[in-house]
Amino acid sequence: MDNIIEGLEQYLEKKHPCIVCGSNSLGEFAKQDYLNAMKCNDCGMISVNPHFTEEGLDTFYNEYYSNRAKDSNLSELRKKAYIEDKNWVQNFVSGGKVLDVGCSDGSFLSYFDESVWDRHGIDLTDNALSLAKRDHNITTYKGKIWDVDVGKNYDLVMMRGVVEHFRDPIIALNKCADILKPGGILFLTATPNGNSFAFNLYKEKWRMFTPYEHIHFFTVDLLTKVLSKKSMNLLSRHFQYEETPYANLEEDFAKIVKDISIISTENSRNNVDLSPPFPESMLTAVWKKL
Ligand SMILES: [Zn+2]
Repeated sequence: MDNIIEGLEQYLEKKHPCIVCGSNSLGEFAKQDYLNAMKCNDCGMISVNPHFTEEGLDTFYNEYYSNRAKDSNLSELRKKAYIEDKNWVQNFVSGGKVLDVGCSDGSFLSYFDESVWDRHGIDLTDNALSLAKRDHNITTYKGKIWDVDVGKNYDLVMMRGVVEHFRDPIIALNKCADILKPGGILFLTATPNGNSFAFNLYKEKWRMFTPYEHIHFFTVDLLTKVLSKKSMNLLSRHFQYEETPYANLEEDFAKIVKDISIISTENSRNNVDLSPPFPESMLTAVWKKL
């Protein structure tokens, strides 16, 4: 991984204004290697800035992700998380045409009942998409959501742990809004929350601060601000924690208490390990198109 990271430095593009409000008033919030997360002093948006070009990101994902081993235990936990997410969003829309942006091998979509959902997915790699098609009968599209014609009139468009990876998430969010039918639902989940207690406390030691992959740290309010320009209204928000397979209330809170003491005594995070899972670290929300 270290070699890949050094090799990527050439792909950094120049520093850019806040992607939400356009402000140039940015302050350093967290840092890892040569990557800085900058927080907008005007709206609070946090982004890795400067971050990689599209070419740099493609290089990272091709060289790093293709070598990543599959962890079957994680997959078991992920299945429970998928079911939680599917059940929650079905409170707002119970069937119709659905697109999963970043569908991978179709695992998440496979939990949406084929008899009431017309299932579509988009992703970047042939391997994953052929599994989605073969194992789950999903209609697939290859490429980046803003480049590809995925049809329209969707009842539900969803991004699970995806929006924070895009170099330009605004283009992606706008495209999602455009392909929904009136009354359709956009569902974002498993996305790091830029204004969470654990991020504010742990900064670069926050478990979700992985700046090679996670470029943007939205809040529900900032997403709502972006989406309101596309006639999308926030319907509901939810912060998953206790119901997830990752939470351990006793251990997580005990670690936080201990770490607060270390961080405040030493005025440094050098001697704390990565943050535990914690309430409000991850955001889940739905918006409805007018
Ligand atoms: Zn801003």
